[in-house]
Amino acid sequence: MTRKVFVIGLDCAAPELVLERWRDLLPNLNRLMSRGVYGNLTSCTPAITVPAWSVMTSSKDPGTLGIYGFRNRADWSYDKMSIATGSAVKVDRVWDILSRANKRVNVVGVPGTYPPRSVNGCLVGCFLTPSIASNYTYPPEFKKEIAEWVGEYWVDVKDFRTEDKDYLLRQIYEMTRVRCQLVKRMITDKPWDFFMFVEMGVDRIHHGMWSYTDEGHWRFEPGNKYINSIRDYYIYLDREIGEMLALLPEDTVVMVASDHGAKRMDGGIAVNEWLRREGYLTLAQDVPDKMTPFERVKVDWPKTKAWSSGGYYARIFMNVQGREPNGLIAPADYERERDELARRLIAIPGPNGEDIHTQVFKPQDIYHAVNNIAPDLIVYFGDLYWRSVGSLGLDSIYTFENDTGPDDANHAQQGMFILYDPARDLGGRRLQAEIMDIAPTVLHYMGEPIPADMQGKVIHA
Ligand SMILES: [Zn+2]
Repeated sequence: MTRKVFVIGLDCAAPELVLERWRDLLPNLNRLMSRGVYGNLTSCTPAITVPAWSVMTSSKDPGTLGIYGFRNRADWSYDKMSIATGSAVKVDRVWDILSRANKRVNVVGVPGTYPPRSVNGCLVGCFLTPSIASNYTYPPEFKKEIAEWVGEYWVDVKDFRTEDKDYLLRQIYEMTRVRCQLVKRMITDKPWDFFMFVEMGVDRIHHGMWSYTDEGHWRFEPGNKYINSIRDYYIYLDREIGEMLALLPEDTVVMVASDHGAKRMDGGIAVNEWLRREGYLTLAQDVPDKMTPFERVKVDWPKTKAWSSGGYYARIFMNVQGREPNGLIAPADYERERDELARRLIAIPGPNGEDIHTQVFKPQDIYHAVNNIAPDLIVYFGDLYWRSVGSLGLDSIYTFENDTGPDDANHAQQGMFILYDPARDLGGRRLQAEIMDIAPTVLHYMGEPIPADMQGKVIHA
């Protein structure tokens, strides 16, 4: 039987908040859970917005996609990084498959959809849209209709790493209000068989407000005025979701999914500073006397074995003879050097000498294929309670200031999902699923064959 499917994407929505702590305050999501199935959705590695939504909607791992983060090495040189926009996604996502099967699709704000490509329906570009002056919709003239319907459409907040929290909250609410207004209008006015939208506000409020709401965060102050800011936003979002659900045709299957979860950030580990101190990275200048982005320091490449990019996780790149322009590590020593470096990264203790449970991954061990230029090692410092800071010139390898602006939360490996089928009471059971299971589950409910190269499996509720 063929069904309509409506997917609510909540970037960074955390299972412990939605499925547990605030469940009773979220009557609409709660209703989907009570009659559906729900649980943790294990993200990809790295658990990062880009590539995670493309992993979810193509059912292919980041290595197969050849997208390892927001910024990726464009070639084997030391300084060319490219931003992975939608152009980097070379495989079908579920709406491409459905479009070819003559299903009507509406896609709004799914990361990895700018620049927009043609679909059998309407597509609104993602948060990477540089401005709404650009062509961010398919068909291109749809953006005029959006302007008539909602006024100024927001692809993202203008600045989520701001110290002005009132301004941040105003931006997030306005962005979400406008997106939900657009989605509700499209539910009724743009015919569809498959509809998916992603709300970025959850991610932005987690990164911006987590320390005000989590008493485990080192900066938390009891009784602060923002203590309920994240909870209240989820309550607002649940109300918007309720209004959408009321508009859906009766037999629509509803899925809710997040690309990763969230957790408090305990601090940052200055990974290039550590590599320098350990003799892996040699500078061709004095060590900077203040925090300086890696791109602005001169590296003595012929004497450097490894360097890193910062971010929510660390990407370690090794300097290999015959591969990088001034490679130092002999190819025959590569695996031994890589294992040794992985061991030493795992052994970096916390500031009090404690084991922080760092995880290190080799791309070849975790992906079906390793396309484009992967990092040599992917590092989750302190099980993602610690981020990775790429800057040099810190007086310690530990820092509590972020080099890219204030940020309270890191990503967590476990996102969340809910699957609701109005035709069947699924009993409100808790299940565990994988991010790559979403696309085949959509195709299953829509009565379409599941391509053999999809790596996930149908969530059999
Ligand atoms: Zn995300």
